[in-house]
Amino acid sequence: MTPFSFARASEPAAAIRLGAIPGAKYLGGGTNLVDLMRETVEQPASLVDVTGLGVDIEVRAEGGLLLGGAVRNTAIAEHRAVRTRYPALSRAILSGASGQIRNMATLGGNVLQRTRCTYFYDTASACNKREPGTGCDAIGGFNRIHAILGASPDCVATHPSDMCVAFAAFDAILHLDGAGGPRTVALNEFYRLPGDHPEIETVLAPGELITAVELPALPMAARSTYRKVRDRSSYAFALVSVAAALELAPDGTVQDVRLALGGVAAKPWRAFAAEAALRGRPATTDSFRNAARAELAAARPLRDNAFKIALAERTITAVLGGLMELTP
Ligand code: SF4
Repeated sequence: MTPFSFARASEPAAAIRLGAIPGAKYLGGGTNLVDLMRETVEQPASLVDVTGLGVDIEVRAEGGLLLGGAVRNTAIAEHRAVRTRYPALSRAILSGASGQIRNMATLGGNVLQRTRCTYFYDTASACNKREPGTGCDAIGGFNRIHAILGASPDCVATHPSDMCVAFAAFDAILHLDGAGGPRTVALNEFYRLPGDHPEIETVLAPGELITAVELPALPMAARSTYRKVRDRSSYAFALVSVAAALELAPDGTVQDVRLALGGVAAKPWRAFAAEAALRGRPATTDSFRNAARAELAAARPLRDNAFKIALAERTITAVLGGLMELTP
């Protein structure tokens, strides 16, 4: 591990001042960043501990929530308002990592965690994300866990978060603060697809801090769910995951739907094409399957991950079918 300095920020202004120093990184629970530092993939000159900052969990009267950037994953998953208003979010968090890691990991760190592409962690491999311009060993290598949507010839990595898939489905809004002052960005516009600059993963400005995530009121989210398909039943990243909520019209057609996918792209993938294909259609297995196919028409599999297309189609269809039992 490369030597670094450490400071604990006691208030946001101090954190932002320290975070603006070149080479600084914010530290939440450290459950990803410290691993990356051990492997010398990340070599910050200084760490600014932000775990003592910000709001906790604010329950809004109109039905929404404000979740502080330093709140631990466990606290979010177990909060009564999260479990009742956005059960898919609670399920998504509880499907990730282990109990010990969820007790340490923070919301802000979860949003900014790096891909689990094995070549990214192996400093002997070529990786455009770790070292721009060096190539991508995943493309000609073993790429079973990699992206089928939104990838580029320079990077085919996936985003590893479960929590953020639920955020994508529910139109979460990130609250940021930095040298330019506070601002908000929709989560679905926060992440960048890799293009020819996979090392730039978000629209976050240098030194900007995630202070909170806002979940707008969404009554249909009270009947939402999250399903994660993975190689073993715990402590594994998603091959495909689905966050979904469904609202039916009195005539049995789909009035509204929220659908997002994990494990398939460089960002939590909001399935806008599937949603558009479903609204106004009869809520049947055929409609769910057709909507999944509409989304996955853009999929471009690699040598080892074509199975993800069929897996995503079946998982979307099954999750929406399961939601029918929860939906009046
Ligand atoms: Fe690096 Fe992306 Fe290629 Fe993985 S897929 S080796 S992260 S460039």
